[in-house]
Amino acid sequence: MTTPDRVLTVVANAPYEVRQIPGKGFGCFAVKDLKRGNRILTDDPLLIVPVGEYYLKDVEEAFQKLSPAEQALYFTLHSAHGQDPAKWPAKVHPSVSPMERLRILEQHHARIGKEPSLISIFQTNAMEHARGAAIFPYAARFNHSCNPNACFAWNNAIQKETIHAAADIKAGEEITVSYGDIKYDRDTRRWTLKHYGFECDCPACSGDVTNLNSWAGKSEERRFRMRELDEETHTLRGRNLEAGARTEGFLAKLLEFAKLLIEERDHTIHLANIYVDIALICERQGNLVIAKATAEKALRVKLDCHGPDFPDLKNYTGVVRRIKKKIEAEKKAPGKSMQRETTEANGIV
Ligand SMILES: [Zn+2]
Repeated sequence: MTTPDRVLTVVANAPYEVRQIPGKGFGCFAVKDLKRGNRILTDDPLLIVPVGEYYLKDVEEAFQKLSPAEQALYFTLHSAHGQDPAKWPAKVHPSVSPMERLRILEQHHARIGKEPSLISIFQTNAMEHARGAAIFPYAARFNHSCNPNACFAWNNAIQKETIHAAADIKAGEEITVSYGDIKYDRDTRRWTLKHYGFECDCPACSGDVTNLNSWAGKSEERRFRMRELDEETHTLRGRNLEAGARTEGFLAKLLEFAKLLIEERDHTIHLANIYVDIALICERQGNLVIAKATAEKALRVKLDCHGPDFPDLKNYTGVVRRIKKKIEAEKKAPGKSMQRETTEANGIV
């Protein structure tokens, strides 16, 4: 890692500092040891664009509402303008509607423009918000890694963007988040990250993906299997979990998915939700001991990545509470369910 030569202002008492990294722009570095689950940042939106698919006029409208100091802050953020036009398709098919054509061309001109613009900064830094997308001026400084050590989320209860440590982080280590889907292969990740104007140099991207003994090779293989498992299980999860529970091999696939996420160090809401589904299936099968252990793991991961004030936390605490009650009831009047074992779940929980 190159020696940072400049420190930027961060929110008061933040456990990190922003440094300039020669050749890489800015990055956020821990100033003390952090534990998994530590809240690193809460950030207020600077600018909200309350639509899913935005046009220049939407960003302009939001920008006009900012004070001169806020407008200046907006223009300190990274911009992925100045990209090579040859690397982006420039023609729009005649079947595309005039409005969509306008939107595509606005985005294209922002990317290949010579100067930072309202759109180029917005497309480089915008994050999901309950009412569309928003710019969070401090959260936007965190760089991407395909194996990040932190995660971000919009917390609607406190109306702030949060960043939590998803792993133990040593003082001096860069804090990174993921801008994309962990399941993508390297080529797809590269395409997605092109929109942000950089090529990822994390170990999963910069290593030899054809060498199955390297981290990059193993990671590529894990992500391939995750996509297969997702394909095979996603329609049987959530509301359809009842059908999933009746499908042969479904639980084994979820267990394998959780194992791959752990190996890929993805301690995020993906893992929490798979743990919940495993817990619910074990509960349904009467394996309450395993169900409780897995539901508690789900709650732990959820707390670690979203914090104790996240709006839907009760969905996770509720599952733990219900299973504990069933176990208590079983102790008072032992039935068959405590004796049943779901052996395939024993390996992971
Ligand atoms: Zn990467």
